[in-house]
Amino acid sequence: MSLVEILKNKCDLSYSCVRVCPVNAIEVKVNKEYARIIPERCIGCGSCTSVCPQDAIHYIDSKDETKRILKLEGKKVAVVAPSISGEFHDITDYRKFVQMFIQLGFDHVNEVSFGADIISLKYAELFNNFKGKYYISTACPVIVSYIQKFQPELIDNLVPLVSPMIATAKVVRKLYGQDSKIVYVGPCIENKNEAKLYSDDGRIDSVLTFIELRELFNEFNIHESTLEYSEFDTPIGYKGSLFPISNGLLQAANISEDLLTGTVINAEGKNNMINATKQFFKDTETIKKHFNLYYCEGCLMGPGTSRGGEKFIRRTRVTDYANKRLKNFDLATWKKEIEKYWNLDYSRTFFNDDQRIEPPSEEKIQEVLKAIGKENSNPHLGCNACGYNTCRDFAIAVSEGLAKTEMCLTFTLKNRHEYIKSLRSTNEKLAQTQKALQDSEQIALKEKDAAQEASEIINTMLHKLNAGIVIIDKNLKIIQSNNSFIEILGEEAKSINEVIPQLIGADLKTLIPFNIYNLFSNVLSTNENILNRDIYIDDRFLNLSIFVIRKDKIVGAVFRDMYSPEVRKEEVIKRVSEVIDKNLEMVQKIGFLLGEGASETEQMMNSIIELYKTFKKKE
Ligand code: SF4
Ligand code: SF4
Repeated sequence: MSLVEILKNKCDLSYSCVRVCPVNAIEVKVNKEYARIIPERCIGCGSCTSVCPQDAIHYIDSKDETKRILKLEGKKVAVVAPSISGEFHDITDYRKFVQMFIQLGFDHVNEVSFGADIISLKYAELFNNFKGKYYISTACPVIVSYIQKFQPELIDNLVPLVSPMIATAKVVRKLYGQDSKIVYVGPCIENKNEAKLYSDDGRIDSVLTFIELRELFNEFNIHESTLEYSEFDTPIGYKGSLFPISNGLLQAANISEDLLTGTVINAEGKNNMINATKQFFKDTETIKKHFNLYYCEGCLMGPGTSRGGEKFIRRTRVTDYANKRLKNFDLATWKKEIEKYWNLDYSRTFFNDDQRIEPPSEEKIQEVLKAIGKENSNPHLGCNACGYNTCRDFAIAVSEGLAKTEMCLTFTLKNRHEYIKSLRSTNEKLAQTQKALQDSEQIALKEKDAAQEASEIINTMLHKLNAGIVIIDKNLKIIQSNNSFIEILGEEAKSINEVIPQLIGADLKTLIPFNIYNLFSNVLSTNENILNRDIYIDDRFLNLSIFVIRKDKIVGAVFRDMYSPEVRKEEVIKRVSEVIDKNLEMVQKIGFLLGEGASETEQMMNSIIELYKTFKKKE
């Protein structure tokens, strides 16, 4: 699990975290709507945790782990960083504070300032025994992490000593036994990573920040007003209690920072420490000093302290507390304690964890600068809105896949203007289309009215016809029929018509005899018309024509009542004409057989033919 994480559902990409991260350990990938911390690159400085307006960035919470430890058998020891007096301004007497730890379940409460005393004296020993090599001393795990990951060529210059936290753990284990459980309480979150490096007598079982400690006090309802005094356990620290102030560790061992005679330069703060390491690497032989570095401005304002604290108020509290402790300080006892623990093994080694990325090609960088419209501006300047110091740094990060072009404000604004322009033109086109749509809607409405009118006319005509008309669909259900059809079907159909006007939707099978129904079914399946078929329904003699209106789908039929006077006359004429036509044909054939010589007979036959023709015309 990584030390610091971004909750992606809370992140709204303001890039505040990207802006403060000193090592570009936060990436914003193309097509991702949130920022992500790259754990391998993160140095645990915690700068990002206090700037997110969405409160989307959190570090690992160790409260549950501590509560589990407090339930275990054996001695439980709290080792407390001296900056605690700067943090807990609301606790009036430090002795009450010790009792609050006891209430939580600890058996002993020790100050890390004793470990700081030992380490600062060891620094002094190293610096005083100068053999031409300059060192970087630091009690800050973030500096160590930074050098291992981003300036590994300086690893050999790091003072090879453990931090005051680990030194105190070693002292406490010697004092209470190797099985003791130790919880460190301090202002820094990278200590949580540092603690994982030790499994021997320097082991720390859990690391609580001051913020987490406050939360535990609240959870267990522990307040100083209900408690009595209690002293820190021995060994008591001396000037090591000043180590949260950036040059405190140097003062604790009387290491001089004097501008003329001093051997150490002290640097604190994000930008200073980065510049200091770069210059130390480049110009040690010119500078000729050891460097003592802190990432924060001392440990007073570490990321594990409460938000909104004021640096100089905290500083004053730490020095006031140190002064109070140093009055009547039992120096002789302290010296004996230092001697007692002096020879424990405080050495440490460092490892190369190089996280630097191969720089992209100049061509790639120029490509990005061009894409964001910065190819002609000074790439060594920048507005910083993207989180990077210069446009060139930003272009490098984009080339390395750590950032995306949309993070550049001017690029985004330019894109937005173009987007607005294209939106405007789309809107205009949309308005034109809308107008055309309205016009065609009007036309369609008119056409619909005309179609409606035509349909009404056809319906009226349909009902005026004497012949029965029916139109059916592929399921042999009635789509349309007229009154004559209903009349032909008889009384039952008339009753149904009262409930279902024009029998629309009725099943033809239930209305006509099966043999006639089969004719419809046949036309639907073969798509071949049946014309002028004489049929009977009940005692009615009918003439039926069934014809295809739409292939496989719609069929229409005309029923003519052969007993109705109009149909009878029409049908008689039609059928007499057919007989006469047949007779004429026969007469012509007879004439032809009789031959050309029989002209008399021919004339007679022709006169008969003419007579029939005249008769036919009259009919
Ligand atoms: S500061 Fe970082 S984590 Fe917070 S919202 Fe902005 S981009 Fe996301
Ligand atoms: S903790 Fe520090 S190094 Fe890690 S991501 Fe946050 S700002 Fe960057």
